[in-house]
Amino acid sequence: MPDFNSIISTIHSQLDASADRGSVATYIPELAGVDEKNFGIYLNCISGESHKIGAWNKPFSIQSISKVLSLAQAFSLVGDSIWKRVDVEPSGNPFNHLSLLELENGIPRNPLINAGALVIADILVSQLDNPKEDFLDYVRNLTNDFSIQFNTKVALSEKSTGFRNYAAANLLKSFGNLNNDVETVLDFYFHQCSLEMNCEQLSNAFYFLANRGKCMRDHAFLNESQVKRINALMLTCGFYDEAGEFAFEVGLPGKSGVGGGIIALLPNQFTIATWSPGLNEKGNSHLGMQALEKFTTATQLSIF
Ligand code: GLN
Repeated sequence: MPDFNSIISTIHSQLDASADRGSVATYIPELAGVDEKNFGIYLNCISGESHKIGAWNKPFSIQSISKVLSLAQAFSLVGDSIWKRVDVEPSGNPFNHLSLLELENGIPRNPLINAGALVIADILVSQLDNPKEDFLDYVRNLTNDFSIQFNTKVALSEKSTGFRNYAAANLLKSFGNLNNDVETVLDFYFHQCSLEMNCEQLSNAFYFLANRGKCMRDHAFLNESQVKRINALMLTCGFYDEAGEFAFEVGLPGKSGVGGGIIALLPNQFTIATWSPGLNEKGNSHLGMQALEKFTTATQLSIF
């Protein structure tokens, strides 16, 4: 077994010294004030050990990382019928891009870009009695942590500037690929994106995708074939137009968010969460991407 402790602390201190930390997302006003000096890593091994360094216990906005959790819940509720409404191909485009959606008649390329996540949100709004509460409950159960919350300020802040998401939702609606009204779906979506977690909670939440569908308490949330599909989507679509780069550099299924978090995992081995709020020009955490590249290189643990 590699010496995880010394590997993650070396990576952390090397990168923490870098002058270029990327820039914090400002298009959601409430996120603009987050201190870009934060940098944490949490490694959660299936064997039971864990290793952590830096700001691993500070909560942050998980943003697009939530798209994997909403997909998991929708998948467990409606199964393969999801794929009639959303495709499974990488987009090669930024997360909020709209032109392909028009070209492809309102069928989003995949569930991890915004348009696809809006279709998943629509499915959950239709399926759940109290959509926001029930989704929050699902995430809390998955993580076995009932302190997890939405940050309503962040949700409302995004709502006030979410013009592109309004455009995407309206486009989907015009193609008949939203059953609920635009406001309701967006309200759900902005709340799911506003979920706050620290690196440990994030690594716990995603444990089931490294553990054949079973969470840390050994409850099954998805079957193995569903886990395979979600991990494949994370590998090919989890980083928007940098998904190829992430597979190339890191070689793990993963998902990023504009809050600066990244979750990545190696099936049957570990989940690893990083948080550094400065983003690169593609909207992915600048230090997080580098940390994970260094981690899989040093440990020689990747799916390849
Ligand atoms: N809530 C954000 C948005 O829709 C999520 C984007 C992201 O994290 N990449 O713009």
